[in-house]
Order: sequence, then C-alpha cells, then structure tokens
Amino acid sequence: MKVPMLDLRGQYASLRAEMEPAVLALMESQQFVLGEPVARLERALAAYSGCRFAVGVSSGTDALLCSLMALGVGYGDEVIVPTFTFFGSAGVIARTGAKPVFVDIEPAGFNLDVEQAARAVSRRTKALMPVHLFGQMARMEAVSELAREVRLGGAVVEDACQSVGARRGGKGPGQWGTCACLSFYPSKNLSAFGDGGMILCQDEALAQRCRHLRMHGEDTRYHHSMIGGNFRLDAWQAVVLEIKLRHLDGWVARRRAHAALYDQILEGVVQTPAILPGNESVYNQYVIRAAGRDELQRFLADKGIGTAIYYPVPLHLQKCFAYLGGRAGDCPVAEQACREVLALPVYPELTEEEIRYVAECLREFYQGK
Ligand SMILES: *Cc1c(COP(=O)(O)O)cnc(C)c1O
Repeated sequence: MKVPMLDLRGQYASLRAEMEPAVLALMESQQFVLGEPVARLERALAAYSGCRFAVGVSSGTDALLCSLMALGVGYGDEVIVPTFTFFGSAGVIARTGAKPVFVDIEPAGFNLDVEQAARAVSRRTKALMPVHLFGQMARMEAVSELAREVRLGGAVVEDACQSVGARRGGKGPGQWGTCACLSFYPSKNLSAFGDGGMILCQDEALAQRCRHLRMHGEDTRYHHSMIGGNFRLDAWQAVVLEIKLRHLDGWVARRRAHAALYDQILEGVVQTPAILPGNESVYNQYVIRAAGRDELQRFLADKGIGTAIYYPVPLHLQKCFAYLGGRAGDCPVAEQACREVLALPVYPELTEEEIRYVAECLREFYQGK
C-alpha cells in the first residue's frame, strides 16, 4: 500500500464538475486580477470566519507582511513571535525593518508560551504574532490580555495560515486579534491552484489600509500616498477558493475522524497531538512526537508512507537570523520539538484502511524496540 503525505488529485476529481465551468467562464472573461470573483470570495470568507472584513492577497506571507505594514510596524519596533513556526512568520517582521523577538512554545500544543512572551516584552514591542500551528489556536485570551497590559494598542497579528475554521472558546481567527492571516498554499486545508492569502479583521480603517497597500498604496491611478506592494489575489484563485470553501467543513470533519482513529490506535505507542481544552483543531497537520524520529521516518518511507517534518530548525537558530544572537538552549522546548516531531498523512480523501495501515506500521516499528 502507498500512502503519500498529501495527494490533491482525489479532491480535484470530486470537484471537477463544479470547477471546470467556473474556471472556463473566467478564461472567457479574461479578467484575471481582483474584480468581482475576489470580492465574492472576500464576502464569503468574512461570513465564514465571523469577521466584518476580508482582504484577498497574494499569499499567506504577504497577508502577514501587509498586516504589519498597515499597522505601521517598522524600524525600531519589535514583534514577538514563536521560534517554532514556518519561516514566513518571522521573515516578514524582519522585512518591515522591525526585529523579530523569538519566544519558546508550550510542550502541549506547540503554540506560543505566553508567559515567556510576557518576559520578552520591552518598550519597543509593537505587536504580538501568535501562530495557530497545525490547526490549533494559541491561548488567545492570554495573548489578548498581554497585549492590553503592555499597552500595545491591541496589536495582535494572528498567523492563522494553518488554521482556517479553527475555534477556541467558540471563536476563530480574526475574532480574537487585531487581524488574522490565512494562506491558500496547496498544502493548507483551504487551498488554491497556486498561491493566495487573506487578511481577516473587524476594523474598517485597517481593512482599508490593507486594500490600499495591496495596490502599491495607490490612491488614484499613479498617485501614491503610501508605499505598498503588489499583494493582489488573482481572480482565478478566488473562483477556485469560493467553490472549495463550500466543502471545507466536510473536509475538516474527515480530518477529525482520521485524527480520532490515529489517537485511538496510537495510544501508548507514541505521543499523539494534545488538543488543549476549549480548542477545536482543524488538523492541517497530525503531528506526533516520536523517539527515534528520523529512523521512524525512514521505516515508514520503506513501507510506502509519506511523512513530513514541521519544523527541523527553530527560527532563532536560522543562519539568516544569526545577527539577533540566538543560541542553542535559548528555547529548549522548541529545540526538542524540532528533534521529535513527525507529521502523518491526514488529508480528507484518505480511507480508514489507509489510516489503519499507517498506524499499524508505527506500532510495528515500536514493537521491535
Ligand atoms: C503556510 C504558512 C505561512 C505562509 O503562507 P504562504 O501562503 O506559503 O506564503 C505562514 N505561516 C505559517 C504558519 C504557514 O503555515
């Protein structure tokens, strides 16, 4: 049996009848950038997320960058971010000229350790960037409280690139922070046919600044009051995403069923994902902690099973951030996670038989130990 980490062909086959006429109509229109399809997707995602505004942009990374720019983050500022996340979370902070301040994570749930974040606050702290990793939200009530306490003006940029549809205490990304950023990269739960992203927020002025910035800060044609970028979303991606959004909850239900089955079979074999009380994960990834992780990964590969390591190197130890002076030992929980984590296949189209096969292969690996 072969079980890849991700295979989107099954999803496409199930959507072909809906997708092809919509994509063909767009080709006939020859209107490729922004326009009505993007506006429709923005309305649909705002409604889905319980947010007043949604601004379609070119990627999750650009959603984060555009948000920071709209909040006025720049040279001399600091932004607090977990060290255990995708590179883009911190890359955008540095690109505004601000300093990423790396903080450790909690062992359970892999998200920001808010007590450590509180210790990292300084006079220069301008924003907090909690990341909702693997489909599970960070402790947002504690993050919001910290933002209020340190008079950040409530500047909390949620990196929700892996967590569209997730909930904590019944509230999702964009309902906690100043804004939340989504990614539609093909490996995400809601995925485009390429790159795309979205900024969710409740504040009209902020949404307006983001719209302005995604068009190079243009006021009227060729007149600019701000320096923005080309952060536009293609109409093509919006057409695809609007159709996929209707199926998202069904796909998430299947991911949860797969996760429950893994949890059941793997109990006592490896450390299965801890979902914190109050959280509803959307399982963008199903990440175990495994002793002998690299050997296990090779064993599974020999059995035809694809897996992935999110993430092998914490950001405070990345070469490009050496100028910040991070050292091994600074964030021990994240550093340990980097040695132990392994993501198993969990995409919706997998069958129960395939999930059982993966789980049984894991049991087999540890039985010989
Ligand atoms: C995917 C991802 C991003 C970046 O999104 P892109 O669309 O690939 O630019 C940022 N942060 C996290 C946590 C992600 O998983």
